[in-house]
Amino acid sequence: MRKLLIVGSGPAGLTAAIYASRARLEPLLIEGLLPGGQLTTTTDIENYPGFPTSIDGYSLTQEMRKQAERFGTEFMRGDVKSASLLGGPLTLSIDSGDVVQANAIIIATGASASYLGIESEQQLRGKGVSACATCDGALYRDVPVAVVGGGDTAMEEALFLTRFASKVTIIHRRDKFRASRIMTERVQSHKKIEIMWDSAVEEVLDVASNHVTGLKVRNLKTAALSVIPIVGLFLAIGHKPNTDAFKGQVDMDETGYIVSPNTRTNIAGVFAAGDVQDRIYRQAITAAGSGCMAALEAQRYLESIGL
Ligand code: FAD
Ligand code: NAP
Repeated sequence: MRKLLIVGSGPAGLTAAIYASRARLEPLLIEGLLPGGQLTTTTDIENYPGFPTSIDGYSLTQEMRKQAERFGTEFMRGDVKSASLLGGPLTLSIDSGDVVQANAIIIATGASASYLGIESEQQLRGKGVSACATCDGALYRDVPVAVVGGGDTAMEEALFLTRFASKVTIIHRRDKFRASRIMTERVQSHKKIEIMWDSAVEEVLDVASNHVTGLKVRNLKTAALSVIPIVGLFLAIGHKPNTDAFKGQVDMDETGYIVSPNTRTNIAGVFAAGDVQDRIYRQAITAAGSGCMAALEAQRYLESIGL
């Protein structure tokens, strides 16, 4: 039986591991199917403090991992498939068939951006297709970009992108935004933003040249097809927290985000950190910060039960 298990190897899990291993809690970190987390899917990180000339996402998480290893964190490959957290020792079942138990667990399994699912979009991910304007927007100076979605995130991303892009086209599948009125008004009155209503992206161009040059967009009412030239495509059609393995045990909100004020869940000894419990900020630095909080909370909890 372990003192502490950490699930997830993004900035939240790795920061929790740095703090917990320095505190001699001898954590075992289960990495999941994406070692290093979402940052490994992107290139330049320009907003993580301490790297004035930017750092690529993979290197940043590798550095965090080395720091956690230095203090004795153990790593285990594998994905948690189910959890038994109510009564008895806290138990996780891994896809390898292994079962691990601990006195405390930090869940840092992150969230996954939703994508349209069309083939060309998947092929051009990271080559002009992004799901994070805050992260990648500054790379698109004085060029046209598009945002897909009609919620508050799409409005926020579109407004943010106007700081850099020459033009922002919002493509929405209906004739009305679901975003709040104030955000909608800001978008509709912005001179750099154009809206394509009742429209869906049919293809992202140009797979052959391996970067985004435009979009084929279908008008869903008239069936007319048009091609718009853009250099960056931003998806803002929602996020899904990676919480399936913990459903029915840990309290979640209606969209599956773990409810964890100050990283404490409804279950004694179970903590949550990073994007898995944060539907608002979703940044590497906030994930890392809450990983630190979760480790300190776990340390206090373990002390309170004499460990
Ligand atoms: P994640 O990074 O999502 O990591 C989750 C971890 O949990 C992964 O290791 C995964 O393998 C693991 N996992 C999931 N399910 C299971 C399971 N069942 N069992 C075991 N392990 C599991 N933020 C910035 O601050 N700056 C940027 O420039 C920036 N750029 C970005 C670019 C892109 C393309 C994307 C997608 C995101 C970007 N972000 C950026 C956001 C940032 O990556 C996230 O906010 C951050 O990674 C969240 O960290 P996390 O540790 O909570 O989760
Ligand atoms: P959301 O409100 O669920 O909106 C998702 C949008 O994407 C919807 O407009 C939806 O279209 C569209 N969409 C979904 N799947 C699609 C698909 N396959 N193809 C094309 N379009 C698709 O998600 P969100 O905007 O990320 O917001 C999530 C929550 O955070 C909301 O409660 C929001 O208010 C909140 N939030 C608040 C702020 C703020 O207050 N500043 C900022 C960001 C987010 P339909 O409308 O047709 O369903």
